[in-house]
This record gives sequence, structure tokens and C-alpha cells, in this order.
Amino acid sequence: MKNFQSLSDIQSEVSAGKLSVSELVEHYLKNIDEKNGRLNAFLSIYGEDAIKQAKLIDEKIHKNIAGRLAGMVIGIKDVFAYENHRLQCASSILEKFESQFTATCIQRLIDEDAIIIGHQNCDEFAMGSSNENSAFGVCKNPVDESRVPGGSSGGSAAAVASDMCQVSIGSDTGGSVRQPAAFCGVIGLKPTYSRISRYGLAAYASSFDTVGILTKSLSDAAIVLEIMSGADEFDSTVSNKKVPRFSDFKSKNKYRVAYLSETLSHEGLNPEVKEATLQTIEQLKSNGHEVREVSMSQLDYVLPTYYVLTAAEASSNLSRYDGVRYGKRAKSVDLEGMYKESRSEGFGEEVKKRIMTGTFVLSASYHDAYYTKAQKVRRLISQETNNLLDEYDFIVSPTTPTTAFKIGEFKSDPIQMYLEDLYTVQANVAGIPAISIPIGADNQGLPIGMQLMSKSFNELELIDISNQIITFKDQNG
Ligand code: GLN
Repeated sequence: MKNFQSLSDIQSEVSAGKLSVSELVEHYLKNIDEKNGRLNAFLSIYGEDAIKQAKLIDEKIHKNIAGRLAGMVIGIKDVFAYENHRLQCASSILEKFESQFTATCIQRLIDEDAIIIGHQNCDEFAMGSSNENSAFGVCKNPVDESRVPGGSSGGSAAAVASDMCQVSIGSDTGGSVRQPAAFCGVIGLKPTYSRISRYGLAAYASSFDTVGILTKSLSDAAIVLEIMSGADEFDSTVSNKKVPRFSDFKSKNKYRVAYLSETLSHEGLNPEVKEATLQTIEQLKSNGHEVREVSMSQLDYVLPTYYVLTAAEASSNLSRYDGVRYGKRAKSVDLEGMYKESRSEGFGEEVKKRIMTGTFVLSASYHDAYYTKAQKVRRLISQETNNLLDEYDFIVSPTTPTTAFKIGEFKSDPIQMYLEDLYTVQANVAGIPAISIPIGADNQGLPIGMQLMSKSFNELELIDISNQIITFKDQNG
């Protein structure tokens, strides 16, 4: 069966009677069966469920009562609650834990007749940039299996890139949708903070966490965003703003675009990534957009601010995993010993490191020096970013400084690993929407992504300009 690039491709074959949703599900299950043993993109596969659902949806299509996502087969990152299915956050502490309810964003997809085919591998509790922090083994990059798929939504990106599902739902706290999208050659969209309900998304750093979307086409990203967005009585932080028709994104608008000089002069930037970014910048200019180089004085502080604040929030959020309420419980003679041993055995190295860092920056003696200071710097970064976005419609940069690296390459060098988030964390610090789109490949064929950021709630134009870039590239080789 062909590798469908978008839901509309699928739906037109279905309505022409050339394809049924049941056949489509069989196709993805076959791909999972053939590839997942090597790639380890899925941790749980819901084959029987999916086949049953597909039959029902085929009947609905026949009666003309199917939802807007009929024919869309979706994989979800192992951080989303799906009733009576496992939710493990790729952590031993939640091994075999089952959720009792479904996340709002996932429910909205199901209500429109999307089919959930499985839970996908990721870094433990979404902390990482390579998927190497999963308690259930690394996921491999389908483009080159000796390399990481990126993280933390590595399984989600690898699954879309290798056609094990049409779309994946990931989470993005500092780049976890955009960075793996760039490494695997797919599209990764992180909407505005508060655009999509986080109810049912396991919390990492609540003031940064965003539900994100990984797809092969912008039209799929747009429709999925449209369906998941909007107010939710279970999450009071979700915006009440009216949700635009993201699926009507196509225009010929000319935009004002800025690129940050600091991002392109960074010493860690791979020359081929730089070259591809500059070429796309030239393309934007020749297509009539106004493009300017600008400078951002706070850029050096973005990464430390992110890591101080997310560790602080993580240390608080993860205190709930105590051996009493969920998942793993260690045997111990007393209560305190049980807490300690459950957490020591259940959490992996990276998660422990962040809990300890977070506890430290929140401790009475250091609170002002680290946590309060980082909050102030967060405000300054947001202000500077938003000032730029008052003048320009978009800020573009590479998504990542490098292409996909080898499994194990940065294991002993956490700073190098954190640098992978250099360009992506700014959008989470400021709460603005951002997207990564594929713009080419390096000389080894490894995908390169470009990131575009825009002002809050401007996803529509973000998708529109991405479409202009991709369409131009498709037409001009
Ligand atoms: N790589 C970043 C981190 O480790 C981002 C993770 C994410 O977005 N969930 O925190």
C-alpha cells in the first residue's frame, strides 16, 4: 500500500471505494509488525482495538455519518492518558500502570473518528533529547538506525517517518516535538501554551508543557490542531479564545521575517545545517517576503533559564510518584523507606538528576538566587521575544544545531545534549507557537529542520508560511 502523505489523500481513496479504513489499519499494523522490533517506536500496540474501531468507522462512512478524522490512524506518546490502556511515561515507576480516563485532546480526536493505534516510546517523563532515557530501551531513527530519533517524542517522530501511523501526538516542553521532527524529517508543531488542554497529559513542567503534533503534511497538522484546541472544563489554563479554522490556511500573503544572528553564528552549529537555513532564508527573500537579520541580547540565558525552571517544576510535579498511589511500590519495613526505595528504584538517572536540581533551586537558601532569578529572566526573554514579534511576523532559525547524532554519542556529555535544545526552548519560555519543517538533508542523507516561531495564537499564519516554503521547495526540487 502506498505511503499516504495526508488525511485528504486517504479520504479521497476511501470515498472512491478504493480503500477501507480496515485495510488501512491492517497496513499500519503490518508496518509496525515488520519495523517495530528494530525501531522500538511503540511501547504498546492496540491492534485488536484498532481493527474493531476501523470496522465501525467503515460502517459510519457507508452511512455518511463519519467524523472529520475518519481514516486517520494516530499514535500517542506514552505521556497521554487513554482509558484502560497503559500509561507508563517510559518509566519503571509506572510500569504496567493503566489510566482510568482519557486525555481531553485524545478524546477529541476519537470523537472525530480517529483511531488510536498505540502508545509511543519517549524519554522518561519527557526529559531528554534523544529517547535514550526511556526505561524501555532507545528508539532508533528510521533514516539511520545507528542514530537517535531525537527526543523526547522520539518514538512519535520515528513512527510517522516510517509510516507506522499517519500522525503522532507528542508533548513539547522545550522542543520535544520539534527536535525529533527535525531529526526524522517530519513536521512538528508546538502550539501556543494554553491552546490545547493538558488534562490527561502527565505533567513535567506545567508552565511549559504543550501538546504537540507530528505529521507528514501541514494539512494534517492543521486539522488535528483545530480539533484538539479550545476551552476545556478540566483545565482552567486553556484559553477561551475562539479556535480559527486552521484547516483553511492557504494564502499568498507576504510576511515580515526575522532571523537571529546569534543562532547562525553559534560555534556548535553544524555548517550543513547553517547552509540549508541560509538557503531557505534566501528563498523567502526571493519569494517576496521581507527578511531581516536581528539580534537578541538574552539568547545566552534562554537555556539556563529553561533548565532551572523546568527542574523546579518537575521536582514538584513528580513528588506524586511515591509508591503509594501509582505504579511501582518497593518492599520496605517502614513508610519512609518505602517512599525512598520506590523512587530510587523507579526513576532513571536523568529524572533523578532533575528532581535533585529542582529541589535544590527551590530550597530556602537558594530559592532567590536561582528560582526567583530565573523567573525574572523568563519575563525578560518573553518581553524581548514579543517585542521582536511586534515588528516581525516570524522568527526563523535552525530547529537544532546538528542533525541526528549517534546512539550513545552524547551519553557522557550532558551539556552537549542540553545544547540540542538551544533554539527550541525559547518558544516554551515565551509560551509562543513554533513549528519545525523539513528543509533538506546533510551529505549523509540525515534530515535538517527549520524552525519558525510566531506570536501567541498565530498558528494559522505559522502553518501558512510553512506551506509556502514547502510548496516552493517541492516545485523547485
Ligand atoms: N530536551 C528537553 C528536555 O530535556 C525538552 C524536553 C521536552 O520538550 N519535553 O527538557
